[in-house]
Formats: sequence, structure tokens, C-alpha cells
Amino acid sequence: MIKRIPTKKIYVGDVAIGGDAPISTQSMTYSTTADVEETVEQIKRLHFAGCDIVRCAVTGEEDAYALKAIKEQVELPLVADIHFNHKLALIASEFVDCIRINPGNIGNKQKVAEVVKACQERNIPIRIGVNSGSLEKEFDNKYGQTAQGMVASAQYNIKYLEDLGFSDIKISLKASDVQRTVDAYRILRPKNNYPFHLGVTEAGTLFHATVKSSIGLGTLLLDGIGDTMRVSITGELEEEINVARAILKDSGAMPDGLNIISCPTCGRIEADLVSAVTEIEKRTAHIKTPLNVSVMGCVVNAIGEAAHADVAIAYGKGKGLVMVKGEVVANLDEKELVDRFVSEVEDMAKDAE
Ligand code: SF4
Repeated sequence: MIKRIPTKKIYVGDVAIGGDAPISTQSMTYSTTADVEETVEQIKRLHFAGCDIVRCAVTGEEDAYALKAIKEQVELPLVADIHFNHKLALIASEFVDCIRINPGNIGNKQKVAEVVKACQERNIPIRIGVNSGSLEKEFDNKYGQTAQGMVASAQYNIKYLEDLGFSDIKISLKASDVQRTVDAYRILRPKNNYPFHLGVTEAGTLFHATVKSSIGLGTLLLDGIGDTMRVSITGELEEEINVARAILKDSGAMPDGLNIISCPTCGRIEADLVSAVTEIEKRTAHIKTPLNVSVMGCVVNAIGEAAHADVAIAYGKGKGLVMVKGEVVANLDEKELVDRFVSEVEDMAKDAE
């Protein structure tokens, strides 16, 4: 398990962020928020995929007022995403569980103060969402689009909210450049204890977004940085959650389900390993108990991997071994191996419940 840097705990609806709370996943609907039916449908899809918090873009009053009807029909906490027009934040704050603003583009301080007052009255947090592409002029002029500029903007806005007596804050520092994103979070982390919302923004379609987010968010998670996160993908809603959960799982931030170790195959392979692993992934996708399993194509590394695995298969020519905690429990024909393996995994998961 990763060792997380301690942060202040806040709540977005009933989802805790920071402190000892699990790292939550977020996404954003792409419907026009005023289209209540479509937005509710998308939020339900995200909920089913395992999303914890959902954000909706508020571009006008129709969107802001639609949040009331949306909120009544969904279980996930809602965040209203506001740019430029603080009046929309004032309306939306009546209905949602968090307001995301980039104070730099809200205008003057008085307008930000009005948003803070509304959030104070409703007891909901504000996400200070710094984006490398929309820094305040003064920071852009001084630092350009750099990690230092993003951190300066965040610190300025944090102080501004704190001076208004408001500390129910989480912070994001997003850039489309992975190194800049990582640098910004790393620089800001020691300067306060507010929870961080991680993300590499505008990361592209599924393949590149997965690579960029795995590098960026994975690096930060391994540093112990991050309390909630969004993987931004130009693609379908569920993909964002699937990738986010995989990053959390494979970085050791969220023990969840099977960690499948399978060999890359080589000329020694004596079985159809790709089909076997694909079938195992499908048939064990429902298991939430964290288990290490290994599926190896020949005996060369199989015994060594099996020694560290809860359940393992070592394929041979036309047959193979099933092992539990390093001990051989069955020597079977190749076509019987996956069935026996899955049944051993299910039994172990049941015993662990
Ligand atoms: S386990 Fe065997 S088949 Fe798989 S990569 Fe290693 S040597 Fe090759």
C-alpha cells in the first residue's frame, strides 16, 4: 500500500475527501446540463461504473436551475463547474454539493466573496481549479504557463478564501503537460494540507489519456499525493472510471479485486495463454477481495511466481498445475485448468469476506 501524505478531510455530499478517506474517482457529464433527462442518464451510467462524484458544466441560468431536478434523481454527489459568471455559482450552490471555480476567471474579489458566502451558508466546499491554460494575467505574465505560475495562482486564491474565513477547500492544478502537472502538485503539497484533486487535463483519446494519466497520476500517488482524481479522456464516460480505478489499483492506492500476473508469452509457450487470461479476467471481474494470482505459460517462472500468488496456474504441454499458496492442488488437462482456477479464487474470496 502507498503511504499517503496526511491532508484535511472535507466532504462533497456524503463522500469524504482527504484524511483517511479512500481516494475517490470523479468524472464529468458531457450533456448540456439543462437537458435533465440526458444528464441524469449519464450520471447513472457513471454511478454504475463506480464513479464517486460527478461534475456538471454550468454555462447559463438554465443549466444552473436544472441542477435542482438532476439532484433529486441521482445518488452521486454533484459538483457545479463554473467559469466567468459568479451568478451561476450563486444559483447552483442551492442545489449541489460542491462548487468548482477558477477564481482567476470569476472577475473581481467581491464576486468571489459572494460565492464564498453562498458556500459558507450551505456548508459546501469549493474546489479551486487552477488550469495552466487560464492563469490570471498577473501570474501568466510573471511565470508563463509553468508549474510555478500554477502554484502562485493556487496560493493566491487559497489565501483569498482563507482571508474570508473559508477553509472548506480542495485544490486542483491541471495542465495538459504531464511533467508540469506533476511539478505543480509536488511544489504545492508541502505548503498546505488541503486535499488535492488530481488530473492531467485534455489528455486525449483512450490510449494516450491512459498513458499520460498513468504516468502523471501514478507518479503523484506513489509520492503519497492525491485525495480524489479524474482521468480526462476524449471518449466515453465509463472509460474514465475504468482507467482511474485501474490506476488506483495498480499503484497500490486501492486494494480491489484480482492483481493478475500473466507472462508476456514467448517461444516456450505451450498453451493458448491469451484466451485463458482473457477468460479469467471476465469470470473474476465481480470479485472485490484483493488477491494476487498468476497465470504462466510454462514452468520456467511459474513456480517462482506461484510461491507469491494466492492462486496460480502453470501451463505445460496439454496440461498444467493449479497451485494455492504455492502448493499444487491439481494436475489437470489444459481445458479443465481455468474452471478449477476460478473456483479456487472464488472460494478464497468467499473465505476472506
Ligand atoms: S513463463 Fe514461459 S512461456 Fe511465459 S514468457 Fe516466461 S518462459 Fe515464456
